Amino acid sequence: MASKPPDVHVTSSELLDSLDTDSFYVEGADIADTKAPKVPIDRRWEERRFRARLVSPANRRKLSVIIVGTGLAGSSAAATLGEAGYNVTCFCYQDSPRRAHSIAAQGGINAAKNYRNDGDSVYRLFYDTVKGGDFRARESNVYRLAEVSVEIIDQCVAQGVPFAREYGGLLDNRSFGGVQVSRTFYARGQTGQQLLIGAYQALERQIAAGTVEMNTRHEMLELIVVDGRARGVVIRDMVTGAIETHFADAVVLATGGYSNVFFLSTNAMGCNVTATWRAYRKGAYFANPCFTQIHPTCIPVSGDHQSKLTLMSESLRNDGRIWVPKSGEDKRDPREIPEQDRDYYLERLYPSFGNLVPRDIASRAAKNVCDEGRGVGPGGLGVYLDFAAAIARLGRPTVEARYGNLFQIYAQITGEDPYQTPMRIYPAVHYTMGGLWVDYDLGSSIPGLYVTGEANFSDHGANRLGASALMQGLADGYFVLPNTISDYLADGPFPQVDQSHPAVAEAVEAVRARIDKLLSVNGSRTVDSFHRELGRLMWDYCGMERSEEGLRKALTRIRELKKEYWSDVRVLGTNEELNQALERAGRVADFFELGELMCIDALVRRESCGGHFRVESQTPDGEALRVDDEFAYVSAWEFGGDDRRPILHKEPLVYEYVEMKQRSYK
Ligand SMILES: Cc1cc2nc3c(=O)[nH]c(=O)nc-3n(C[C@H](O)[C@H](O)[C@H](O)COP(=O)(O)OP(=O)(O)OC[C@H]3O[C@@H](n4cnc5c(N)ncnc54)[C@H](O)[C@@H]3O)c2cc1C
Repeated sequence: MASKPPDVHVTSSELLDSLDTDSFYVEGADIADTKAPKVPIDRRWEERRFRARLVSPANRRKLSVIIVGTGLAGSSAAATLGEAGYNVTCFCYQDSPRRAHSIAAQGGINAAKNYRNDGDSVYRLFYDTVKGGDFRARESNVYRLAEVSVEIIDQCVAQGVPFAREYGGLLDNRSFGGVQVSRTFYARGQTGQQLLIGAYQALERQIAAGTVEMNTRHEMLELIVVDGRARGVVIRDMVTGAIETHFADAVVLATGGYSNVFFLSTNAMGCNVTATWRAYRKGAYFANPCFTQIHPTCIPVSGDHQSKLTLMSESLRNDGRIWVPKSGEDKRDPREIPEQDRDYYLERLYPSFGNLVPRDIASRAAKNVCDEGRGVGPGGLGVYLDFAAAIARLGRPTVEARYGNLFQIYAQITGEDPYQTPMRIYPAVHYTMGGLWVDYDLGSSIPGLYVTGEANFSDHGANRLGASALMQGLADGYFVLPNTISDYLADGPFPQVDQSHPAVAEAVEAVRARIDKLLSVNGSRTVDSFHRELGRLMWDYCGMERSEEGLRKALTRIRELKKEYWSDVRVLGTNEELNQALERAGRVADFFELGELMCIDALVRRESCGGHFRVESQTPDGEALRVDDEFAYVSAWEFGGDDRRPILHKEPLVYEYVEMKQRSYK
């Protein structure tokens, strides 16, 4: 199918005129990645590694790197750079690197090993990822990710990560959405935990060797930029409240995603945007902020008291069948509804991929059947995920071995036994494809600032395929960054920086002033009540479905709410103590600014792509419609200043290897 049927064609000038977007942003010059070598795609990574300057082992001792974040992306980078001999200083806000959000990852990690001999290859993983991302990712990066995926598995096995194995002793694989091969490696429903233990032990080894200094319970609150280079961070010791400065030759942010801007998400409660947002305000471009992933299989919201949503891993879609009653009037117990009265809508609509369509397609389909009034459970916001057929076919022990811990989680939260009655699931915010803009070297628009893992705008375009985040985080940390950062560090060590430098004093003062301000408002509303209201606005207007009208409404209300926040928030306690209210207050203040940029980004992107359905951009039969000739670009936003409009730089996306076409999973 053509990407844009003529009967619904709208030109960009018509779109932009009708939006009057000028009041929201300024358009800057286009940008491009200049680091990927101009050679055939399968030679680019090898060529880049060869051309990148090296630092000799003896000189590495003279160079220092700060790494903020010790999830999979950060701990793998820290361990590798430490092993290489650089001086690494690491920070995380948890009490141990092992508590990073990566530990929550359940389902698995992709790699193009083709152990199943089912037609997989580096090229197919590349193709699936570009297509799955709805043609909004950079081809060079995605190809490299697919290449490196193979090495990740070898490294993790060597570390002792206990991947599941099949009868012959090879590592076992299962399938995730959007693909027709089995390439997902897993360790029960605890893949992230096991991978993080592997990376953590590699990190601990370097801590013991003295190449990495680890600082837990330290939160980065500001980036220090000196003479145009990232040279350090301002950190708050979360136990004592002390404000510290740390300097290095380069800074790496591996600080994860920002799904919690929605308040309710599947992310750990602490996940936030502060590190990347502070870098944005210092000149790092923020790319595709409105690209968020809505995961189709989460436990539905149960009431207003809730502050967290729980994911039921996508791996469940390997064996579970998704359905709703054919009639919205049918309120029978699901077990009493006969086959002929059920609608297995994914199998019906997408026979080739069935229940394993990509997340965006599955999420939107669930929303559609619920909008039709056929949803199940409280408020009609749920669909069934049913294991009866799998249990009959495979037996309960097999199902238990594959998914036992996930079933336990479900039973504990809902009080229902999924072995007996179908699970109820509904889409929820899960992952952010947007993040700081990086080039092929993972360098941001600030020299010396590198960004890895979920914190960068990554390789996933407008929709990440399942099990690809762990792959990307470890690819970045173990293999990509260590090979590219040397090209920058080869010019170091850079001149010493200390507290007396005006840029440092200014950064420290900004942090102190902000903390003082938050503590002195002494208003009447809690941080959480503001956050909840912001999250609701984001979900209603910048979630799965967006419209110009809704986004404008959200922007107006977010701006009002932000003002109210700074005049009416109540933050108890002091800075000089462990103060979680203060920590949250700073993070929510940044979420307000981010939320505004997300809505502006969504307003400008007047096309449906990935999981983002723009009501103004649909086919006559109501399907999502991408508008390639207007929007095949990465939007990279530059901070314009407080109360000034952000500047949009476009990085045009060129597809030389995968033909851009409307996706079909039918
Ligand atoms: C429930 C769930 C299940 C998932 N399952 C899968 C799966 O099966 N497969 C898959 O591929 N992906 C999965 N994902 C996605 C994947 O887990 C994440 O994208 C990935 O783990 C992110 O890793 P990261 O290293 O980039 O960030 P994180 O693991 O989030 O680590 C961020 C680090 O940054 C630190 N940090 C952040 N801000 C600051 C600051 N200001 N100062 C100091 N430190 C800071 C934190 O302390 C932490 O150490 C899942 C996600 C969720 C929510």
